Amino acid sequence: MAKTIQAIRGMNDCLPEISGTWQKVESVLRQVVANYGYQEIRTPIVESTDLFKRSIGEVTDIVEKEMYTFDDRNGDSLTLRPEGTASCVRAGNEHGLLYNQQQRLWYMGPMFRHERPQKGRYRQFHQFGVETYGIDGPDIDLEVILLSARFWKAFGIEKHVTLQINTLGSNEARAAYRDTLVEFLKARADKLDEDSLRRLETNPLRVLDSKNPDVQAAIADAPSLIDHLDEESKTHFETLCARLTEMGIAYEVNPRLVRGLDYYNRTVFEWVTDSLGAQGTICAGGRYDGLVEQLGGKATPAVGFAMGIERLVLLLTTLTDEGQDDSFADVYVTAMGDDAQSYAVEVAEHLRNQLPDTRIMMHCGGGNFKKQLKRADKTGARLALLLGSDEMQSRKVGVKPLRDGQEQVTVSFESLSNTVLKLLSEK
Ligand code: ATP
Ligand code: MG
Repeated sequence: MAKTIQAIRGMNDCLPEISGTWQKVESVLRQVVANYGYQEIRTPIVESTDLFKRSIGEVTDIVEKEMYTFDDRNGDSLTLRPEGTASCVRAGNEHGLLYNQQQRLWYMGPMFRHERPQKGRYRQFHQFGVETYGIDGPDIDLEVILLSARFWKAFGIEKHVTLQINTLGSNEARAAYRDTLVEFLKARADKLDEDSLRRLETNPLRVLDSKNPDVQAAIADAPSLIDHLDEESKTHFETLCARLTEMGIAYEVNPRLVRGLDYYNRTVFEWVTDSLGAQGTICAGGRYDGLVEQLGGKATPAVGFAMGIERLVLLLTTLTDEGQDDSFADVYVTAMGDDAQSYAVEVAEHLRNQLPDTRIMMHCGGGNFKKQLKRADKTGARLALLLGSDEMQSRKVGVKPLRDGQEQVTVSFESLSNTVLKLLSEK
């Protein structure tokens, strides 16, 4: 036999056993954003490498070591998108969606990062995100957080996620704080790891975000950005916190939360869970007022977040019985004997016309009655239709309930759809 070819490491197939759960998750997400008046945007999966370098930042993990970058046949440097925000701003600028306007957008799709694959961390993964433009007050920060909170309610997992928020202040306030922080870190340089020492020179705020517990211990009493805020950012943050409380959204202020992408300012937030081990952040976002201008547009305030769909699906299958229903048919149509075949197909097609929301599968491949019923059972169908030459002659249909104690009945072709609906609606 020829050697088999395997998928690329860290890139997953979504197999039928779980694709139903993905579809349900996606449909709930779509429904929630529509409920807030957000519109979908779809952008290409490949962009110019410069787009991500200029937006995410040259000295971030993503740009330094995680991007899938290659030269195309013209010698242009292209990159598989590692996230959605940069593309969204690029498209918004390119098509005039952002200039003096308000926009509320959402997207969903695959992202690519060359990370070490592990549970909840993959090289191709999927994000669902929202991006809003043109609104500078905390009312929109509140809205995107309320919207994300509604996801957890819709999935019944609100008790398993917590909201962490922080503010990064204005660019000027952050620059001033940066000097204070660098001084503090330099005094403890012997306790920092290699990554943090490099960051100290290039992007010192990211040291706060270090995942190394030794580094975290060494910087436990680092000066806090919250104490160095400009007045406007402070008011913005306080208003947001007060409104969250009013709306009954519990949160924790985490002064260490800085996010791994350079474009954030003011509000940043993450929804975290302790039910997924190390990969505990399922949704993360914040304000990025400078990015539109930085990518060539007119200065435009912006807030958004992105959620990792794999982590959400993992959380749902860990915590709830979502994904337990693995049936893929409601009605299974069997046929005995060659002459009943075309009648059976006619019955199946008729029923699909009448009941477009019902899953009706036609047995193919012949075999005896026992074999056909065995197949029916595998699909999880609740009803089998039995069609032989007698039924064909009399234009009737045998209806056999497969799960519960209901009786088998024979009904006319005309009354079939009513009978099926009635039997399927009985618990
Ligand atoms: P992390 O700290 O987990 O590396 P991040 O800060 O890199 O996350 P963002 O770039 O803000 O994450 O992406 C938003 C969300 O996308 C994350 O909270 C997570 O749910 C998901 N995500 C990010 N990277 C991956 C990945 N490699 N595999 C699966 N999901 C991911
Ligand atoms: Mg990351």
